Amino acid sequence: MERSYDVIIAGAGPSGATLGYELARRGVSVLLLEKDRLPRYKPCAGGITVKAARGLGLDIAPVTRSVVRGVRATYKRKRSFTRWYDQPLVFTVMRDEFDHLLVRRAREAGAALLDNEAVCRVEISSRAVRITTTARTLESQIIVGADGAGGVVARDAGLMRGVVFGMGMEAETSVAAEKLVQWDSLMGLDLGHIRGGYGWVFPKKDHLSVGVGGPLRQVRRLRSGYRAVLKSYDLEAGSVSRLRSHYLPVRRRGMAIQSGRCLLLGDAAGLVDPLTGEGIHHAVRSARLAAPVIHRCLESSSPDLQGYQEAVDRELMPELTAARGFARLFTWFPGLCFGLVEGHDRLWRACCRLLRGEETYVSIKQRLYPFEGLFDLLTV
Ligand SMILES: Cc1cc2nc3c(=O)[nH]c(=O)nc-3n(C[C@H](O)[C@H](O)[C@H](O)COP(=O)(O)OP(=O)(O)OC[C@H]3O[C@@H](n4cnc5c(N)ncnc54)[C@H](O)[C@@H]3O)c2cc1C
Repeated sequence: MERSYDVIIAGAGPSGATLGYELARRGVSVLLLEKDRLPRYKPCAGGITVKAARGLGLDIAPVTRSVVRGVRATYKRKRSFTRWYDQPLVFTVMRDEFDHLLVRRAREAGAALLDNEAVCRVEISSRAVRITTTARTLESQIIVGADGAGGVVARDAGLMRGVVFGMGMEAETSVAAEKLVQWDSLMGLDLGHIRGGYGWVFPKKDHLSVGVGGPLRQVRRLRSGYRAVLKSYDLEAGSVSRLRSHYLPVRRRGMAIQSGRCLLLGDAAGLVDPLTGEGIHHAVRSARLAAPVIHRCLESSSPDLQGYQEAVDRELMPELTAARGFARLFTWFPGLCFGLVEGHDRLWRACCRLLRGEETYVSIKQRLYPFEGLFDLLTV
């Protein structure tokens, strides 16, 4: 056994790095284990909504590529509209730069890091946790799975069985300067090519991130959907690099994300917004909910982390559950949803406030009264 820590976190993405920071600044001895060499590329649109940025407690200006203030929406290449908002909606980043900023903050607070070293096996007993990596064996009081969708920690702890997956496919796309300038402060949202999913274009200063996502049952349509997005926005298919896909895991109410000395964060816990695929906001929030529970648990020397799952169920799940209802409506009636946002300024502004965290799915749902009960049937 090489060394022991109070807490070992598998994965140094936004959830793991945020928890590393939160624990280190509370004086906890914490190690981040990351399978890739950092900084690492990650297939992601790199959209940090204003609500997510606010929750980071960190200035992301040094890694911000573009500030989005408007949306160019298209539906089946037949209808389109462009709308602007008077305030920022989304900041775009490259994930290698953004995630590395979070990891650096954790390290500066005192967290240890081993990168290019994967967790291979986790054995949890009533006394401690034994972690076997590609290079060594380590011990800790608590293990945290921040290792993304289908992570090793959830597997070995027997958590997240039956999680529902979506899938996203994304590529960095270089375009001519005159085309790039058309996307200044604008993001693209393309509907109607993938049932229950959508395509996007995010400006990244010197190129565009173009992608498509949807339910796993639509996985075979992702490639053609991706080409359709390029066509909708008249972008060249030849200029695409790093076309990659990745899972989008969605937790259902009651699904176990904690057991004994183990808990899961972010994508490992399936905390992705089922409507938009946004995951960074809840990844960070889950880390913030876990930190005080872990700290209390270490201080009382009793491995009771149950408060974490209760906090996630109380603080995050009502919003993610309501999002599931809206995702169903969107799956069944994409043209209607498009038309409603196109034609109703109040709805457009509500969507913008949602991205900014000034409105929630739950608050929008409450305005559906007296049909709120009917809406709840969609979330079952
Ligand atoms: C195509 C696509 C586009 C997306 N666009 C957006 C977007 O615009 N905005 C948004 O908010 N969300 C987006 N998401 C979702 C977002 O990427 C995730 O929700 C977010 O990264 C979750 O953070 P995390 O820290 O939980 O996990 P991750 O960011 O996945 O980090 C997990 C880390 O664990 C490491 N790891 C995995 N296995 C091991 C192991 N065995 N040992 C050690 N380390 C390990 C991985 O290398 C990785 O660094 C997108 C997802 C996809 C697929």
